[in-house]
Order: sequence, then C-alpha cells, then structure tokens
Amino acid sequence: MRSSPRRKDSGWIILAWSLNGLGLLTLVAVFAFYMAGQSEAAPDSFIDDSYAPRPTRTPAPTLYYLPTVTPNPRATMVEDYFTPTAFVFNVGPAPTVIGFSVLGRPIQVYTFGQGENQYLIVAGIHGGYEGNGIALANEMVVYISEHPDVIPSGDTLYIIPDMNPDAAARGRNADARVNANGVDLNRNFPTDNWVADWDHSNCWNDRPTTGGAYGGSEPETKAVMNFILSHHIQAMISYHSAALGVFPGGVPWEPESKNLARILAKQTGYPYPPIDIGCVYTGTLADWAVEHNVRAAVDMELSTHQNTDFEQNLKALKALLGF
Ligand SMILES: [Zn+2]
Repeated sequence: MRSSPRRKDSGWIILAWSLNGLGLLTLVAVFAFYMAGQSEAAPDSFIDDSYAPRPTRTPAPTLYYLPTVTPNPRATMVEDYFTPTAFVFNVGPAPTVIGFSVLGRPIQVYTFGQGENQYLIVAGIHGGYEGNGIALANEMVVYISEHPDVIPSGDTLYIIPDMNPDAAARGRNADARVNANGVDLNRNFPTDNWVADWDHSNCWNDRPTTGGAYGGSEPETKAVMNFILSHHIQAMISYHSAALGVFPGGVPWEPESKNLARILAKQTGYPYPPIDIGCVYTGTLADWAVEHNVRAAVDMELSTHQNTDFEQNLKALKALLGF
C-alpha cells in the first residue's frame, strides 16, 4: 500500500526532470541556431583584409557605383542555372591549367583552333559578383565546341572562363568580387599607373579592397601575366558587368584598342565611349596587356549583372577574331 503513493511521487519527479531536460535542450538549440545565424551574418570573415585600408574616409558614399539598369527579359537569365563551381562539360577540348588561386583552385584556359593569330577572352576577374561573364564564357566554350567553324583557320582563340575562382565560389554578392586576399585583381596588374590605393569615392566602394601589396602580387594575376607573356595575343576582351560599356586599354587609350572597342560596341550595342562615372582605373588587365605586346585590349561590360547577352557577344567574338 505504501509503494503506491511512492510510485506516484517518483512519477512526478521523472516528469519534472524531463521538463527540465527539455528546457535545457531547447536553450542549447536556440543558442546553436543563434551562433549559426551570427556566422552567416559575417560573410567578410573569409576575406583576409589585412591589406585593406583602414576606413579613414567618411562612410556612406553618396554615389552608387553603377547606374540603374533594366534587365533585358529576352536574354538568358543566369540566376536559375549559374553555379559558381568549376565548369564541367563533355564536348570539345579539355582545359589546360595555367595557375592556381590563393586558395588553390585551378585557373583554366580552353584553346580552340591552331592558327597563327592568337586571341584571348578572360572572364570572372571580378568573381561571382560579375558571374554572368563567367556564364557567358562557359556558353561560348560549349558553342564553339559544337560549332568549331566559328574559328577561322588562321586563328587560335583562348578562353579563360574564370580568372578569380575563389571569389566565384563565394556566390554572387559584393563579397564575391575580390580574391581571397581581399585584392581587386583588375587593380593588381603592374601597369605604369599601378597604385595600392585610390580615391574610392566614385568607384566600386561596397567593401574595403586594395590593388595588392605590389603590382602583380596575386597568384591569379601572375597566372594571366605568364600566359600573356608566353603568347602573341592580337586582341583580347576582359569581361565585366554591368552597363558601363567598352573600355579601351592604355593610359591614355591606345588607338588600336579604341578601334577594337568601337567595333565591339557596334556589334553589341554596349556604350562606346564608355560611361564615365568619375572613377580612375589603375592596374587593369587591359592596360597591362597593351603595355606588353597585346595589340589591342578592352574591358567590356555586359548590360546587366544577370544576362549573358549571348547573341550580341557571339557577334563580338566574330569581330574579335576578325581584328
Ligand atoms: Zn568588373
């Protein structure tokens, strides 16, 4: 008879401790969830910004770095299928690795044709932030593999679809522009006008970044420099987005690069002269290229951050190969 109330008591004790346990588990779960949220909310953490200038300027720039553009609904939308991983396809030539990123990702080049006149397309220098350029380069690789006649018999075309793979792997936001050292690779080429820091007020200013410890400091930059120095490139396009137009290489712009820019602008409808937002560009790939025996080079911006503008750029490719 005495055992019955005792059993009843122990039942309540078990229930009370179970509730305690449940409460504790809930607290642990809430804490874990909060910590996960914290680390997601700090996407800068993977960028080593030790080079980055300390914020000495007044914050809150009044100028946005790009004009507002309306996406073209007829062009291919990238967001549904773009993946910032190494591009894999099973037609055409295998790519050659020309170097590695800071984090060890391969930088690849596809080669089409065997002619004497050599042309180069580089995409992704500003990472997944401008990932539609990478998607365009990948579309070109597939298209040329399926239509090899696009390449005239006297020509060789090289395509580097993703020059900044560490950035592309970060997704398609402002954090995905610079390399893993926080360097803007299109400011890192050892041109005559290279500088580590510049007036950011009229330029891209979403994150702290630099031109590197010195011109050509970054492994991605070195890979492309070595490639260009070991070839005789007639003309090249470095793809960007969005909307500012076609920028000829050279400081001041070289006549041959201006010719190329004019021709490409005519084929694509992109602005030439490019839209001047008051930003001074230093250490760019196109400027360095024309200082090092590339006959003509341009930075060319797709019309939005989403579309590949494939049809326009197929025309641009044919014009490039005829240059
Ligand atoms: Zn860019």
